[in-house]
Amino acid sequence: MGRTVVVLGGGISGLAASYYLSQAPCPPKVVLVEGSERLGGWIRSVRGPDGAVFELGPRGIRPAGPLGARTLLLVSELGLDSEVLPVRGDHPAAQNRFLYVGGALHALPSGIRGLLRPSPPFSKPLFWAGLRDLTTPRGKDPDETVHSFAQRRLGSEVASLAMDSLCRGVFAGNSRELSIRSCFPSLFQAEQTHRSILLGLLLGAGRGPQLDSALIRQARAERWSQWSLRGGLETLPQALNAHLTSRGVTVLQGQPVCGLSLQAEGRWKVSLGDSSLEADHIISAIPASVLSKLLPAEAAPLARALSTITAVSVAVVNLQYRGARLPVQGFGHLVPSSEDPVILGIVYDSVAFPEQDGSTPGLRLTVMLGGSWLQTLEARGCVLSQELFQQEAEKAAATQLGLNEPPSHCLVHLHKNSIPQYTLGHWQKLESAAQFLAAQKLPLTLAGASYEGVAVNDCIESGRQAAARVLGTEPNS
Ligand SMILES: Cc1cc2nc3c(=O)[nH]c(=O)nc-3n(C[C@H](O)[C@H](O)[C@H](O)COP(=O)(O)OP(=O)(O)OC[C@H]3O[C@@H](n4cnc5c(N)ncnc54)[C@H](O)[C@@H]3O)c2cc1C
Repeated sequence: MGRTVVVLGGGISGLAASYYLSQAPCPPKVVLVEGSERLGGWIRSVRGPDGAVFELGPRGIRPAGPLGARTLLLVSELGLDSEVLPVRGDHPAAQNRFLYVGGALHALPSGIRGLLRPSPPFSKPLFWAGLRDLTTPRGKDPDETVHSFAQRRLGSEVASLAMDSLCRGVFAGNSRELSIRSCFPSLFQAEQTHRSILLGLLLGAGRGPQLDSALIRQARAERWSQWSLRGGLETLPQALNAHLTSRGVTVLQGQPVCGLSLQAEGRWKVSLGDSSLEADHIISAIPASVLSKLLPAEAAPLARALSTITAVSVAVVNLQYRGARLPVQGFGHLVPSSEDPVILGIVYDSVAFPEQDGSTPGLRLTVMLGGSWLQTLEARGCVLSQELFQQEAEKAAATQLGLNEPPSHCLVHLHKNSIPQYTLGHWQKLESAAQFLAAQKLPLTLAGASYEGVAVNDCIESGRQAAARVLGTEPNS
């Protein structure tokens, strides 16, 4: 009888793992188990009354690098090429990103000339930060916070304005707690290998297998900065689901896994409330802290390591304004914690993807709220009403973008524990988990946003690597 692999979690990581398992020449029996009634996890797109697309989670995928190319390849394999909405290199959403500092929007400099010119909110041209990077010796610690790394290599202003904002924009997190090694591995590696971020990024680029397809070539030729899908990014998990079903994968929805136990023959028993499944191998693509509570007593050291990988919440407020115009054209802006503890940033969705605007002429924006403000409210057990988030989001749109009229449409969602935090020393947690799995020969493989990257590309790659390990194939092929 063939092997059975049970994949836990029907977010993009679990769907990708199931997809790559199902593509094997001689695939195992695959069962994907999702706790909620829908697939896609944090990827969720909804339509407004006028047909406009509102993304409640991710809204753009980067095509750059080997992982970006891998996702584009997957898109083509699923037959979605004609649905792709690219943001080409010459588009304002590709060229302009802003910081909101001192009550004003500031364009981030781009190109060599931009580095030489004074660029507020920074007091000196960023050229000086580059020079500091080139002359600063390599750090000696095995890990460092993002803030300390950036301050050492690029100076205090870049650390407290740019890197602080970036950590809020990508991780909704605190640069003084997050790990450079795990959150921005390319920057950490650049210093380790080339003693400089600039040299490392210049000399180390372009490694990894060169994937090729018409869509990848088009993305390179047109210098896409990101892309979406016409009906929203949820089209991707939907297409994966349809493909899996056609390949004979069993997809269970509304079936939360409530326990895992090991049986005498080394097989797993996966408990699903009233029923159970047997598995030769499990790929877990649910959050690490959730898995830690499901593991059997034999795996207590693993459960302890996983339970320390926590996640923070983000409130997402989608706003639509009839007939309104933005003061600037670009991807959006980020807000450093020193400026506003509540607002992480605002994405100008209509600029990047006007095709998703629906029939109302106007503007779609997404305001992201979180950070220490939200963590404190949650820790105090405060009532977190939709009105509170809507009010704060509308206030930010008015103050930061001059949108003083009330929005014509608004959606508010609090995504609890949605973004994993790779805090200082995260790599040691991963190492101890990997050592335990290897020493105990547990038939369990970890995938998903909890471990080595939160972006959709990282999650797809984690699913692919997990599938390759289970199949015993070379993950880099
Ligand atoms: C607001 C927001 C904006 C983002 N923006 C971007 C962006 O623009 N670009 C980008 O690249 N990335 C972005 N990300 C990150 C990216 O979307 C996520 O990291 C990624 O979708 C996580 O996928 P996952 O499959 O690892 O986890 P999840 O999406 O969390 O999926 C895990 C699945 O497991 C299920 N599950 C949990 N417990 C159980 C159980 N006991 N039994 C069975 N199933 C269970 C859950 O229901 C869920 O479906 C964003 C994330 C958020 C929250």
